[in-house]
Amino acid sequence: MLSSRLKKLNPYIAGEQPRNLDFIKLNTNENPYPPCENVQTVLSKFDSAELRLYPDPNSTQLREAIALKHQVKPENVIVSNGSDEVLSWIFYAFFDSDENGHLLFPEHTYSFYEVYCSYYGIDYKKISLKEDFSIDTKDYLEQEKSCGIIFSNPNAPTSVLLSRDKIIGLLKKYDKNRVVVIDEAYIDFSIGGSVIDLVGKHKNLVVVRTFSKSMSLAGMRLGYAVAHSDLIDALYCAKDSFNSYPVDRIAQKIGLAAVENSSYYEFNAKKVIETRERFSEKLTSMGWIVPKSGANFLFVSKKGLSGQYIYEFLKKRAILVRYFHKKGLEDFVRITIGTDAAMDTLIKTLEGIG
Ligand SMILES: *Cc1c(COP(=O)(O)O)cnc(C)c1O
Repeated sequence: MLSSRLKKLNPYIAGEQPRNLDFIKLNTNENPYPPCENVQTVLSKFDSAELRLYPDPNSTQLREAIALKHQVKPENVIVSNGSDEVLSWIFYAFFDSDENGHLLFPEHTYSFYEVYCSYYGIDYKKISLKEDFSIDTKDYLEQEKSCGIIFSNPNAPTSVLLSRDKIIGLLKKYDKNRVVVIDEAYIDFSIGGSVIDLVGKHKNLVVVRTFSKSMSLAGMRLGYAVAHSDLIDALYCAKDSFNSYPVDRIAQKIGLAAVENSSYYEFNAKKVIETRERFSEKLTSMGWIVPKSGANFLFVSKKGLSGQYIYEFLKKRAILVRYFHKKGLEDFVRITIGTDAAMDTLIKTLEGIG
């Protein structure tokens, strides 16, 4: 009954979403602050009669607002149902193995990339990170053949940022006929780190963004890509060959309200950064290993404790974090930055671990 394609799939494992809200939930990198007030206003005023009609297939107003925010043209933007969806169009549209070589991505990065490779039958090659978890762009340029490059920046789950200059260096030297995708899911927590302004200059660059992290809308499912219009046209071809209406009417309106209140989210991102720095210092002083984070989470370890042990210790005490079964990551946990109060509770709890 099952297709041979399906039998080969190895799906993404999403973080736990407990029904019980009594947990301090620091396991899926959600934002601790609510969406802006306008989002609530849009929801309250929404007329269900509208739902009789299909939504705008191109999310035109939202697309225009995103273009304005990033000072590009609407033709440079495509909106999707969460950034996972635009990533799936990207894999479908630009990467294909045959004679073109493997898709390159870091050994440790967003695990969905590997899942999409299995979904679309794309060969890939994982490139090791340096010992401090940083990406060395030289390793990518030295590969004999490749059909493209993708990584998240800051990277996940390591939290480490690759500098803009290093990405520019990579773009200058890499094959102009192969696509380079930078998944900037967490870039708003690394002020000045984005390369979204470079899509005009580098016609093979695709930048992916999500509303789920810095914009407090994980529950709404909105994402987008910014790139040269030829690449965006290709992504439309992929989208319209699968689902013409991925973004519903409510999501389009809410996305618009959120983009028009960018300053509110910038303010919240600064608060999260401040909390992150304070929490990092505290953990470091308690003997934890804390790589410098550019994201709204930390990736940390403590000598003698496995990631799973830390996870279970905290879960018993009503705090959820995430650990990984992957080789090389077993000693680490990923901790989302919550409110100051949440992080204070976590610190107190971790004082008792051993
Ligand atoms: C959270 C995350 C996404 C997915 O975001 P959605 O828009 O919620 O689908 C994409 N890439 C990375 C690296 C992420 O951490």
